[in-house]
Amino acid sequence: MKVLCVLYPDPLAGYPPKYVRDTLPRLTAYPGGMSLPTPSAVDFTPGELLGCVSGGLGLRSYLEEQGHEFVVTSDKDGEDSVFERELPDADVVISQPFWPAYLSAERIAKAKKLKLALTAGIGSDHVDLEAAIQRGITVAEETYSNSISVAEHAVLQLLCLVRNFVSSHEWVRNGGWNIADAVSQAYDIEGMDVGVIAAGRIGRAVLKRLKPFDVNLHYMDRHRLPEAVEHELGLTYHPDVQSLVRSVDAVSVHAPLQPQTYHLFDDELLATMRRGSYIVNTARAEIMVRDAVVRALESGQLAGYAGDVWYPQPPASDHPWRTMPHNAMTPHVSGSTLSAQARYAAGTREILEDFFAGRPIRDEYLIVDGGKLAGAGAHAYTTAGTASPGSTGA
Ligand code: NDP
Repeated sequence: MKVLCVLYPDPLAGYPPKYVRDTLPRLTAYPGGMSLPTPSAVDFTPGELLGCVSGGLGLRSYLEEQGHEFVVTSDKDGEDSVFERELPDADVVISQPFWPAYLSAERIAKAKKLKLALTAGIGSDHVDLEAAIQRGITVAEETYSNSISVAEHAVLQLLCLVRNFVSSHEWVRNGGWNIADAVSQAYDIEGMDVGVIAAGRIGRAVLKRLKPFDVNLHYMDRHRLPEAVEHELGLTYHPDVQSLVRSVDAVSVHAPLQPQTYHLFDDELLATMRRGSYIVNTARAEIMVRDAVVRALESGQLAGYAGDVWYPQPPASDHPWRTMPHNAMTPHVSGSTLSAQARYAAGTREILEDFFAGRPIRDEYLIVDGGKLAGAGAHAYTTAGTASPGSTGA
């Protein structure tokens, strides 16, 4: 079979990089007990850079020894891209949210042999799920592989914003020492009202990590958490986003991108927030109206915005989120630490082994299967289809 894999480009300084650490901590299970990936073997050392083209998710020798063709590219956008050229006879496509090969309905129509669209990571909204359902294509991802990685990043970015870290750091890098300028927008998070939108795997991990900061925690989700969890974390529940955002100083967004969350944060919603609120968004960029965020930062309605998700990816060099005031943006890195890569690469191999052997793919990994939303997908994506304009925006 032909496996077409789209990964981000190699490091500028070449591959492999010089690793700064020798080992990764050994985990035994995901929080809540879900088991870590269980491939029969892996051909990489955990901690290696696997998510770029030369890393090839550590799959090359396994796939080629089995007689499969393995094409890896970072050239993913436009009609002349390697991805577009290789797609028509690909049986399997592997793509990543960090460097998404947007699998639009048009591209799915061209991919006549496509049976499996695999996301190396979490979040399959770059695939037109409705088109995959119509065509009977299975869509799967490595549930939980990078959830904690993202939660850590969200907490980091929240603290960066509230404490004005980026601008303080710039003062020292630029040879300065201007404390008054640095602290004019620096606060403690202690005592603040902090809310998360969607208390799934990542949202709950963020709440748990924020608890020791002695903040007042709020959340909004379609389903209420068990009372014991609300009690343990001291959570205030909000039935809708409107109620949550007007009750907090900072919001961290962890809902999937779907029609219900597409452009949720528009001028109107942002205007209802407390003046000087902070937003961290490591979920998906299209949950925000891009220019409404810029306007809210410029007017001071928002005191800061951070996240690692953009639209499209990679964003143009003049994307306004690169330069808008009080941003602590990063590229889409939170879920692609070397720690996370070891897990999603192993999970990708597990899914491929099951797929080639004709065994069922773990239910926890499924998004679409058998012509319908399935497994984790049935939970996260209420409506079929994608809210993204797909490859047209890239
Ligand atoms: P989960 O499926 O564990 O959690 C998603 C949560 O969102 C569930 O609790 C679900 O509610 C809730 N939800 C679904 N629809 C809505 C809605 N319309 N409004 C409010 N809540 C809703 O997913 P994860 O926590 O693992 O991941 C969340 C998202 O984070 C992913 O979809 C992805 O987009 C993004 N992500 C980003 C990464 C990055 O690198 N930046 C990496 C990994 C994920 P319920 O179950 O109660 O119905």
